[in-house]
Amino acid sequence: MTKEDIKVLIIGSGPAGYTAAIYAARAGLKPVLYMGEQPGGQLTITNDVENYPGYPEGINGPQMMMDFQQQAERFGTDVRTGLATKVDFSVYPHKVIIDDKHEITAEAVIVSTGASAKWLGLPSEQRLNGQGVSACAVCDGFFFRNMDVAVVGAGDTACEEATYLSKLCKKVYMIVRRDEMRASKIMQKRVLNASNIEVLWNTQTQDILGEQEVEGVRLINTSTNEVTEIPVQGFFVAIGHKPNTDIFKGYLDMDENGYIKTIPGSSKTNIEGVFAAGDAQDHVYRQAVTAAGTGCMAALDAERFLASKEVELAE
Ligand SMILES: Cc1cc2nc3c(=O)[nH]c(=O)nc-3n(C[C@H](O)[C@H](O)[C@H](O)COP(=O)(O)OP(=O)(O)OC[C@H]3O[C@@H](n4cnc5c(N)ncnc54)[C@H](O)[C@@H]3O)c2cc1C
Repeated sequence: MTKEDIKVLIIGSGPAGYTAAIYAARAGLKPVLYMGEQPGGQLTITNDVENYPGYPEGINGPQMMMDFQQQAERFGTDVRTGLATKVDFSVYPHKVIIDDKHEITAEAVIVSTGASAKWLGLPSEQRLNGQGVSACAVCDGFFFRNMDVAVVGAGDTACEEATYLSKLCKKVYMIVRRDEMRASKIMQKRVLNASNIEVLWNTQTQDILGEQEVEGVRLINTSTNEVTEIPVQGFFVAIGHKPNTDIFKGYLDMDENGYIKTIPGSSKTNIEGVFAAGDAQDHVYRQAVTAAGTGCMAALDAERFLASKEVELAE
């Protein structure tokens, strides 16, 4: 095992990680950033980002993340390939193992490992991802104005996505597997009160139709076995997200779904010197701009933490 001591380690290369890197590098902290298995993060699988400020014409997701990386590197961030595979936050400086072979001790660690949308697992869903299939209504709903769309899911998020889409789209079909929803009563009420949302109970998606883009969806009614096809142009999967936080379990406080808990109004976790930013700690907003915002917070919190440590040592 090779060993290395550094000041600031950033785990993850999405908007949160790169923004933390820009701030930490400009503060002279010489951050090292590991990109993980998805360099650039979730935005690398989307074509059009139209809601990130500063790009009036919109921007292609992979290009935007290359811009983030270049900006972080310009100020001296050491951007590396590699996956954090194990941590030990019970010691200080904190230990993080990269690719099971490189041991880093870091005075401050910024966790920005993001989250991954859960998918149904249909081949057509993968093939048409970004061509009408989406896991984010706030991100992509705008592209389906005045069109017909379907939302799959039965929790609060699915209800929220359907309600959001109902204000933009002509018709929203909500595909619900059982004869009831998991969502809270208030969220269900909003869905049921919307005149252009039709809930399809006891229904499962068999296939998403279309070659180049979504043209419809084939459904099966699980109580009658009846198969139907409905024409839609957008297909939104809202069956949940999984934060990429498994390696931090046992050290960082998390909610029941694995989202890291931070002290409100800060990026501080329960462990001194470990900060969390982006979707790994945010199940509410899940946007690039909020991830970037909390990345900035994490770098500033880390910088202040390190400055206070230096004062402690000097005394
Ligand atoms: C298809 C799609 C379209 C979207 N469109 C928009 C949009 O138009 N506008 C918008 O604002 N938001 C959009 N979003 C949401 C946005 O992408 C996320 O909110 C944002 O990317 C979260 O940033 P993040 O930095 O927290 O994490 P992510 O972007 O999820 O990045 C996480 C990073 O952590 C790395 N990582 C994970 N585990 C490890 C590990 N163990 N070691 C090292 N690295 C690790 C990954 O490789 C990745 O680089 C979209 C999301 C999707 C899926």
